[in-house]
Amino acid sequence: ATTDAAATNTATTNADLFARAQAAIPGGVNSPVRAFRSVGGTPRFLVSAKGAYVTDVEGREYVDLVAGWGPAILGHADPRVIEAVTDAAARGLSFGSSTPAETVLAELVEARVAPVEKLRLVSTGTEATMSAIRLARGFTGRDLLVKFAGHYHGHSDGLLAEAGSGLATFALPGSAGVPADIAALTLVLPYNDLDAVRAAFAEHGDRIAAVIVEAAAANMGVVPPLPGFNAELVELAHANGSLVISDEVLTGFRVSEAGWWGLESKTEHAYTPDLLTFGKVIGGGMPVAALGGRADVMDQLAPLGPVYQAGTLSGNPVAVAAGVATLRAADAAVYAHLDGAAATISAAVSEALAAEGVAHGVQRAGNLFSFVFGEEVPVHDYATVQRQESFRYAPFFHAMLDAGVSLPPSVFEAWFVTAAHDEAAIDRIVAALPAAARAAAS
Ligand code: PLP
Repeated sequence: ATTDAAATNTATTNADLFARAQAAIPGGVNSPVRAFRSVGGTPRFLVSAKGAYVTDVEGREYVDLVAGWGPAILGHADPRVIEAVTDAAARGLSFGSSTPAETVLAELVEARVAPVEKLRLVSTGTEATMSAIRLARGFTGRDLLVKFAGHYHGHSDGLLAEAGSGLATFALPGSAGVPADIAALTLVLPYNDLDAVRAAFAEHGDRIAAVIVEAAAANMGVVPPLPGFNAELVELAHANGSLVISDEVLTGFRVSEAGWWGLESKTEHAYTPDLLTFGKVIGGGMPVAALGGRADVMDQLAPLGPVYQAGTLSGNPVAVAAGVATLRAADAAVYAHLDGAAATISAAVSEALAAEGVAHGVQRAGNLFSFVFGEEVPVHDYATVQRQESFRYAPFFHAMLDAGVSLPPSVFEAWFVTAAHDEAAIDRIVAALPAAARAAAS
């Protein structure tokens, strides 16, 4: 019998639940990476999370280095966020009308990220990038979009495109169901390759509406931009009348108070994107995402301008409450802690792998990090990432999981720390490393 008790029933097992989920849900999951396809084995069904830890349906606790794929920057179930959400929920779940807190969240973002003059809230990162692209097309009156191989911007049609061969090749669909005519509006270039960008603008400059780029790539493992890449990209785009959409869905409010833009704005490589997209931390674990940027561009959105964009749940009061509480709590001390935890954990992993003779590189972008296996390090683009000895990750991952440490279930994902990763949590990770490194070596 199907009962609600299944949601919290700790008498069942991960394997039983996965079997049952597979009968009811495609692949047993609501987002593919959760199915553990790239590492094998049985996904853990989580029932609760607190601080640096998550607990599965069998009652096993793991130190968590996924952090809900980024949002849980303060640690899971931070009391300040839970209180804000509970309080908002008690006042009603969804009004479909303006609320005071939406403006508070927009003001918080605008105070932190100078290029954001106006902000529109949506519910997912996919919606944010999709809307930003429509807006860039509406503003410029052009059709083409440039993206970089290995960058992920959500699952809207035009972004599920992979490169054909050669420079500046029009994309082929990266998923069944994406019409070739739509994929053909996306030009996929190798990341960190400004010559490829110059060539694309030389050939198609007057047709390119926007370049969309992860502020620092973190969806093929972590691959930071080369110094000056973002700044030069903005210059090239502007010289050709195109906009730059800097996708900070993952990096925004995670790598610094002002995201990746904030880190680079303090260097000689400062840049000003036209539009930025946010997700994850901005919602503190609830469905909030946003697009923001130049007021003259943002004002092209309906109801002021001709670019349509809307959402029943946009600016949802309960979700916005989580975002406001999270951003208010994420102060300089939190970012200092995240930087320290990332440095400690990544150094410990590297040391353990080196001790077992496993060739690898540590890839860092602020407090985001991941590892590439093999001799070809550091890595600056997708083609090189794909050539790594990725077979070493599955045994490493499972050894860590067996020891009570939950890593991202794919070598092509960033690791996420939280402000709740204290000495005890880090010690547990470090203690698990020698056996995992041995597993990776074999
Ligand atoms: N953009 C980036 C850089 C992301 O990392 C993600 C998700 O991982 C997205 C967009 C899509 O966000 P969502 O999963 O909320 O649709």
